[in-house]
Amino acid sequence: MSNVLGLICRSCQRITPEREFAYACPSCNRPLEVAYDLEALKRALGRGWPGPGAGSLLLQWREALPIDRPELVDQVTIGEQQTPLIRSTRVGPRLGLPDLRFKIEMSLGSASLKDRGTSLCALKALELGYDTLCVASSGNNASSIAAYAAKAGLRAAVFIQRDASPAKILKMLAYGATVVRVDGDMSAASRVLKQLLEKHRWLNCGGPNPYRMTAKRLVAYEVTAQLDGGVPDAIAFPCGGSAGLVAAQMGYAELLAMGVIPRMPRLIGVQLAACDPVTQAFEAGRDEVTPVAKRPSFSDALMNNSPTWGAAALKAVRETGGIFLSVTDEEVAAMIRSLSAQEGLFVEPAGAVAVAGVAKLMAERRIPGLSRVVCTLTGHGLNAPQAAFPDLKLPDPVEPTPAAVEAYLAAR
Ligand SMILES: [Zn+2]
Repeated sequence: MSNVLGLICRSCQRITPEREFAYACPSCNRPLEVAYDLEALKRALGRGWPGPGAGSLLLQWREALPIDRPELVDQVTIGEQQTPLIRSTRVGPRLGLPDLRFKIEMSLGSASLKDRGTSLCALKALELGYDTLCVASSGNNASSIAAYAAKAGLRAAVFIQRDASPAKILKMLAYGATVVRVDGDMSAASRVLKQLLEKHRWLNCGGPNPYRMTAKRLVAYEVTAQLDGGVPDAIAFPCGGSAGLVAAQMGYAELLAMGVIPRMPRLIGVQLAACDPVTQAFEAGRDEVTPVAKRPSFSDALMNNSPTWGAAALKAVRETGGIFLSVTDEEVAAMIRSLSAQEGLFVEPAGAVAVAGVAKLMAERRIPGLSRVVCTLTGHGLNAPQAAFPDLKLPDPVEPTPAAVEAYLAAR
């Protein structure tokens, strides 16, 4: 039994039935969002937060997702689970944050947060009769879609930017995807895919797909459940296309409307200074996001010049008393090294961006009174292993005798 009302356009309030699936509103072309019967959902949640259990997060949160055929979950799952929320022991206190928490989104099966949205998209592809999943991606979303398509027996057509990380491309190829490495950046990959979608009936699992967004919003539900109904002072997201931040806002807005939480957390969006059109719009007081001149970065992710969700992210941040800010490659690299050596968490550049932003925010005292802050760690370090350690050399071999090892240890 589904608690879904249909696909709603927040601009004109028109509701499109799920069986007429579309990415955008037939009346005004704005993105569609899955709308729920919040009374029914509240009754379901009133029976208690669903536990992770043995199965997929799709089954855990089934009451809060548009799932018609739960028996198909077995055919798409690669073991996606509620991700851990752990407390920082060193980085947080050093920043003056007594309760900094890390949401370990990189623990999902393809090693990034993208599996949240992809798992539901793969299920909906089976329900709706699609045979191909596609996406334009800087790397992680394409890897995720490649993995889920392999599991579901679907074809994956992934369009990646020329400069995607080799580790991510290897994953896509290993999963058996058809990889189109576009000779251009993320915008070029998005543009050519959009043109192809006019001819091909493929399910686009990126950009404005309402199923992707509704699955991603569950990060708000999970954090709330993991804090026993508590709301952090702020929650920070790395922002390229800005889908993650906007999806979290959707989730928190539902929880507030149902009376499950008493207030919204401040939403913090963090961009790379090398490509930060949303931060620039935020600082200029503009409502719309316009492309900026990109500079080179050591990150392949987040370099999105025309973010699908940029304007919505600006609005969400302003309405919650949050902030958009940018961090340099040097600040991100330093945070990768801190998270690795001080917390045991090895992340790729995009995965350190939220924490680097919060560190900057604290150093500059831009939001007073922060205590409990959640940062999302979105991608595993093995997705771009040498990004923050370009000069790292393997240790010299040591003779396997106690004396040689003692001498080696003494020298360190
Ligand atoms: Zn509309």
